[in-house]
Amino acid sequence: MSEQNKILVINAGSSSIKFQLFNTIDNQFTILCKGLVERIAIKNSNFIIEIANGDKFIKHEVTKDIPNHLAGARVVIDALRQYQVIADFADIKRIGHRMVHGGQKFNSSIIIDDKVIAGIKSCIPLAPLHNPAALEGLSSFQELVSHAKHVAVFDTSFHTTLSEEKYLYSVPYDWYKSYEVRRYGFHGTSYRYILEKLTNILNKPKDKINTIICHLGNGASICAIKNGKSFNTSMGLTPLDGLIMGSRSGIIDPSIHGYMCSVNTETTIETITNDLNKSSGLLGISGHSSDLRDVLASSNDKSHQHHLQSQLAITMFVQRIANYIIQYANDLANNVDALVFTAGIGENSAMIRQLVIEEIKVLNLKLVASKNDDQYNDYLEISDKQSQIPIFKIRTNEELMICHDTYNLLKNI
Ligand code: AMP
Repeated sequence: MSEQNKILVINAGSSSIKFQLFNTIDNQFTILCKGLVERIAIKNSNFIIEIANGDKFIKHEVTKDIPNHLAGARVVIDALRQYQVIADFADIKRIGHRMVHGGQKFNSSIIIDDKVIAGIKSCIPLAPLHNPAALEGLSSFQELVSHAKHVAVFDTSFHTTLSEEKYLYSVPYDWYKSYEVRRYGFHGTSYRYILEKLTNILNKPKDKINTIICHLGNGASICAIKNGKSFNTSMGLTPLDGLIMGSRSGIIDPSIHGYMCSVNTETTIETITNDLNKSSGLLGISGHSSDLRDVLASSNDKSHQHHLQSQLAITMFVQRIANYIIQYANDLANNVDALVFTAGIGENSAMIRQLVIEEIKVLNLKLVASKNDDQYNDYLEISDKQSQIPIFKIRTNEELMICHDTYNLLKNI
């Protein structure tokens, strides 16, 4: 007999809770609603819920004070009832939580119990902003929906297949042994989703797929996948490493910390880390925005105060992506089934895709301009037949992946 159930997916950040509710019938998943509680514990907190109605979503928005995650979780649960998305709390039996950092402890998604919570807590030093927020989201929903079973899905777990020479930094080995200093990699849930998609698109088993996936959003990383496993990735100990991002620097010379502290007495390790996370990347170089759409607009507008800086930001952003693709094609011995662009920028910016491909001189990659520009729903191949590697734009869906994991782990319980 087919079983119908609801799965709630929660992504709790330091001042926000993103959520999606899915209906599951056996192995089929339909989104019922999605939404966001934002500015938690900040003035003018905001709540948005979008309820599925055929192919469209009907949006409701409320501004109210939401002092903490527990209050935010209550707003979500109340709204699900108020807008009649669920009839009853009892309908929500399974909740999947996005966890950013699972350190070396978690190599796959897992049903949450006290031991798992202790494990996630022990990873807090590796993700001091992300893991406490996710744990707060978890404890809020555990309190409010106490009958539900909860699952943790980690951004890092996909990359536990990296080999030692890929995950180690060339620092004293004891830093790794005593303090777990190593490359962990992130966006694993997105990479897993795209990999699943590729098995259908390429009609190839997962463990035979070699691909390079560019997850280009506000946070951005690249992953080389060999035989269905993460082989190399650009993010490191934290999500600050690698590509130039919205407001994150990506790779820099590590001496910059010490140098800045020596030349500016107001600078500390904390202020630099903050600046590298929040005031760098596209924002830092362009001087005005971390949002690619703004930076593209100002790079095209000669009268814009930050026109030249914006052009520079785009050039630097694109060059670094291109260099990683070249490096990863070499890592995969030039045996690449697909080059994929995904996430906000990768999915939507034809200009960035075009500039990245133009920047790659050592591989014979060719886009079809009309396909690169085309509207699409799920995925589209955008390369010419002569392209050495087929190129795709694919819409990622991390929430659906979390929903799948939650379903699979709990289906027999
Ligand atoms: P994400 O973090 O995946 O939501 O991606 C956010 C980034 O995607 C921001 O830099 C946006 O400017 C960018 N983005 C979203 N839509 C578009 C679009 N249509 N064209 C260019 N960039 C976009």
